[in-house]
Amino acid sequence: MSDSALPHCQFHPSAAAGWFCPACKANLCPGCTVLELQESSNTELLSCGRCGGAAEVLKVHRSQAPFGKRLLGAWLYPLRPSGLFALVAVGAVVAFSRWVFQYAPLLPGLVALAAWLGSFWGSLFWIVRSTSMGAQHFTAPDFQSIHDDLVDPAIRGVVATALIWVPGALFLWHFDETHRPLPLFGLMVLVTLLYAPMALLFAATGESKLSLLNPIKVVGISVKLGRPYLMVVAWMVPLALVHALVMMVAAWVSSLPIPLMAPLVAEAISLFAPFVMARLIGLLLYAYGDRVGYGVDSEFYEPALPGVKPRGKKRAAKVPAPQQRETHRPELQRFTEIEPASAPAAQPAPRQRFIELEPEPAPVAAPEPLEARLVRAVEANALDEALALYRQLPERLPPLPAACHLAMGQKAATVGDYTLAVRALKQVAQHSPEDPLAPKSCVILARLYGERLGDAASAQKLYRHVVGRYPGTDAARFAQSRLPPA
Ligand SMILES: [Zn+2]
Ligand SMILES: [Zn+2]
Repeated sequence: MSDSALPHCQFHPSAAAGWFCPACKANLCPGCTVLELQESSNTELLSCGRCGGAAEVLKVHRSQAPFGKRLLGAWLYPLRPSGLFALVAVGAVVAFSRWVFQYAPLLPGLVALAAWLGSFWGSLFWIVRSTSMGAQHFTAPDFQSIHDDLVDPAIRGVVATALIWVPGALFLWHFDETHRPLPLFGLMVLVTLLYAPMALLFAATGESKLSLLNPIKVVGISVKLGRPYLMVVAWMVPLALVHALVMMVAAWVSSLPIPLMAPLVAEAISLFAPFVMARLIGLLLYAYGDRVGYGVDSEFYEPALPGVKPRGKKRAAKVPAPQQRETHRPELQRFTEIEPASAPAAQPAPRQRFIELEPEPAPVAAPEPLEARLVRAVEANALDEALALYRQLPERLPPLPAACHLAMGQKAATVGDYTLAVRALKQVAQHSPEDPLAPKSCVILARLYGERLGDAASAQKLYRHVVGRYPGTDAARFAQSRLPPA
């Protein structure tokens, strides 16, 4: 997919668009969009440089950006400073626990085995998950418990890859070195290349351990992902070759007579290819996860021009944008239907004159309560503005409609503020459990816990709650599908 898939400005066809004017029904480039700071509420307001009406951030699905380019960047992921640090840190834990495992008696040996496998798989799962949430660099995972962060990843990693390593081990055991049939070996390599990314994806996203062994379910997900999955698989071939080379270097390094350092460095460099693979899979989930029900759907839409600021100049408007938008919007919309949207830029836009003729009365002395402005912003679907207002609310939230909390929870999740998202969604469950939106809020909250915050226990608890409390709803059916079979 090329950049041409991304939207362009209606008035400057060669410029990429990052905003949308509902009144003009037009995509706008930075030059056609105006950004103003509203000092009273300290919020940034967007307006259309053509008509002066309220503009919105244009969102495009993550899959719109070229996926091949994203995948190429995965090779550099372990080589950035944070990645190199992770290679050394994980390499040290793996090297040490492996060494202890070789020499320790039974029980401490088992602990060392869990630490060895758990740190290896745990770090890969962490890369997949943090990448799928949009992390640009390796960030240190927060360690919660031995079970959650070492034992569980160790079991998941071993079980998920069982369909790869069990046949491999049987093959090596059954045929001696001179009689290994080449076609069978080739077939096993092929199956490994096709299956390994999905096994890692499955294991990293918190599927139940039993379903990790179910190839039908695993293959079904890869079919749903389609072409992007095959792109990841295609990268597995050069990755396997690089891994073979790296392992040769690692073997040579570990044979060097330098105690401690040699095995550590060897272990660190042998993690390069697994880290790249985890990054590739994380990117697959980041861009296409919604195809397989991963994450919150609205998260997959992102600003079309991230990090770009509008630089359009406001044209002769006498009234601050929020008032224009809030009081004149219906008239403005009717007005556009009469007037063509693409008025020549040189002439003053008709809507501007319209505003000047009917100026907004001076702002009233008593400012409107935050809650009322918030509710209106949510109703007008001005979610960026609404979220800014929501953040200003006190910790003990005032009573608000469930729809408000739900919209803000989803919006906060979209921008990656999971703490706020959890707080907002909990409000619905706690204060309006009878609201028709409550089951939906609970399910979104459960998915945040399970798929974003790595808290599978809370997620399961919530799913069970939804099944028991709201039987017969879509939310309950969905929750049931997320619970392990009884
Ligand atoms: Zn433009
Ligand atoms: Zn406009």
